[in-house]
Amino acid sequence: MKIILLGAPGAGKGTQAVKIAAKYGVAHISTGDLLRKNIKDCTELGKKAKEFMDGGRLVPDGLVVALVKDAVSAVENVLFDGFPRTIEQARAVDGFAAVDKVINLRIDESLLMNRLTGRRVCNDCAAVTHVSLLNGAGKCQVCGGVLQQRADDNEVTVKSRLDIYCKQTAPLIEYYEKQGKLIDIDAGRESDEVFKDIERVLDK
Ligand code: ADP
Ligand code: ZN
Repeated sequence: MKIILLGAPGAGKGTQAVKIAAKYGVAHISTGDLLRKNIKDCTELGKKAKEFMDGGRLVPDGLVVALVKDAVSAVENVLFDGFPRTIEQARAVDGFAAVDKVINLRIDESLLMNRLTGRRVCNDCAAVTHVSLLNGAGKCQVCGGVLQQRADDNEVTVKSRLDIYCKQTAPLIEYYEKQGKLIDIDAGRESDEVFKDIERVLDK
């Protein structure tokens, strides 16, 4: 099974992807995570990707496609999170993976700025949370680790990411609708509610 998770930044792709991978045993391929790992490890790719990511722009298609191709070469069941993000990338996927379902996490744009600027990620276990859930505590509620804000979760960069989503990624909704693979899910709710709908789709 090959699944794509589509949705704006802040729609909850990462949160749902972790749940899906745990329940269905698919390999979770997040281009954002792979790119951040490359930045942390100071690879050539990481050096190239960093300026694009910090500016809230997309990393060039060629770099991202090569990264994903490499990551999926050995796996049968896979969940793409944050990829493809352009029509060009989607065409590339058509050439190397037979996608079964595309789950589109639909959400009102007005919710996204708060979700993203309030997002905090644990340095130790990578759990994702929101400042509104922390009651002033600055520690990870899963492992007690130190929480950090992602470099691109500030207001200026978020605006640019949302703008790029509308222009470059939203057209993929129609692209996959035409292929008969798109399934819409209301992502403006609690993450457990959203996951229940995803389970219904994947259990079919
Ligand atoms: P979000 O979906 O919240 O924006 P991600 O972690 O998926 O977070 O992506 C963070 C950044 O990584 C993007 O703003 C972009 O710069 C880069 N990136 C991730 N996936 C892709 C992709 N498929 N194509 C180009 N750039 C990407
Ligand atoms: Zn933690």
